Amino acid sequence: MTGPPAGDGRPGAADGDEFGFSTRALHAGQRPDPYTGARAVPIFQTTSYVFEDTDSAAAYFNLQEYGNTYSRIMNPTVATLEERVANLEGGVGAVAFASGLAAQMAALFTLLEPGDHVVASASLYGGTVTQLKHLMRKLGVELSFVDVGDVDAWRAALRPRTKALFAETIGNPGGNVLDVEAVADVAHAHGAPLVVDNTFATPYLCRPIEHGADIVVHSLTKFLGGHGTSIGGVVVESGGFDWANGRYPVVADPSPAYHGLPFPETFGVYGYLMKLRAETLRDLGAALSPFNAFLLLLGIETLPLRMERHVANALGVARFLEGHPQVERVRYAGLPSSPFHDLARRYVPGGAGAVFACDLVGGREAGTALIEALELWSHLANVGDARSLIIHPASTTHRQLSDEELLGAGIGPGTVRLSVGLEDLDDLVRDLDRGLRAAAARSGHSDTPDPPDTPTGPVDAEVVA
Ligand SMILES: *Cc1c(COP(=O)(O)O)cnc(C)c1O
Repeated sequence: MTGPPAGDGRPGAADGDEFGFSTRALHAGQRPDPYTGARAVPIFQTTSYVFEDTDSAAAYFNLQEYGNTYSRIMNPTVATLEERVANLEGGVGAVAFASGLAAQMAALFTLLEPGDHVVASASLYGGTVTQLKHLMRKLGVELSFVDVGDVDAWRAALRPRTKALFAETIGNPGGNVLDVEAVADVAHAHGAPLVVDNTFATPYLCRPIEHGADIVVHSLTKFLGGHGTSIGGVVVESGGFDWANGRYPVVADPSPAYHGLPFPETFGVYGYLMKLRAETLRDLGAALSPFNAFLLLLGIETLPLRMERHVANALGVARFLEGHPQVERVRYAGLPSSPFHDLARRYVPGGAGAVFACDLVGGREAGTALIEALELWSHLANVGDARSLIIHPASTTHRQLSDEELLGAGIGPGTVRLSVGLEDLDDLVRDLDRGLRAAAARSGHSDTPDPPDTPTGPVDAEVVA
């Protein structure tokens, strides 16, 4: 085969763990292009690849040899991204998808059959809840949602046909930190994999596979891409789960969708990932474009530097808000006041991410006034951008809900969600302070004191104090 010049797409062909995280964020999965010498990852904007001869074409389609056929299934630029994320997460390989939701759907779809059951954390990204509740049910999969912090509840929710447990490392809006090890133990005692959405932590702050998770999914759209330019997702597998334990015939048995190929028997630790690519990605078609893979890789190159700044700024903003009379409560696991602080110290010792919620005094009115008064913080429905973002769910994403329904979702009328960016901390704080004054004036709670001088204190020493 004429090997593609960069990122040849072999699952798990990561470059080893002897280099540090920042080095791997720049180099894993890539060599300089041997044809042109290009140092940056080339964008292979091609749908298809010329076969050397009919024999090698046949070998690719039989999966006897691993080679590029069609960019819905694999592409060299996308392969570099896959290998890089797999390397950073400590997995054996990865498959990229057009979005985070497509990735997690594909991850679960590959191992589930109609009549199966999934136990999931009750505090998940809104799009995930909809996907699990409605799309999965439509496919005949039953769901149970449990309090993510209640290990007994995870165990009690298990059924004979429970085939996966699903949670986020850091949830929203509660700032819940998953006890990865405890929930992985519950899953493994049942012969099921733990699937973790690590979007908010990123592999820089937490690598769930090191704590027992079997599959890690990401929305690359957020901190990994980091600049709010591109939608993408990825599935990483540890390679440690036994798909031939008798509970996953849909993974382990000879596949009718791939002329009788038994994936784990044929590909060993890559069995699940090969099935995920050669069947699920092929058939669902939610492929990541090479150009988006290129932009997402640019983001990953600076992930360590950006995450340091994201979490330092997040802690600074959280401390400022916690000390502000217009703020009732800050739900950031990086603060000692959070019920998840101990878990944060254990699982995300470098910082509890940069997305969190706080509850304003003065309810909906205060939330709206704050958003309207802000100049620097962008009002929009995304997280993980280099720029600071804010949203008031009660007047936007959850607008149709009554106050009672809002509380059921863990959201108060005065809850705002912040995604803290990379700007100067003083500028972020000054803008929020102006907004909170406006909120106080609008809601009639105007006992706000004079602007603080140095509202945040030192933030660089120990991020999770
Ligand atoms: C955004 C997000 C998703 C969905 O990802 P998309 O790329 O938007 O499809 C899933 N989980 C979490 C935690 C997210 O923030």
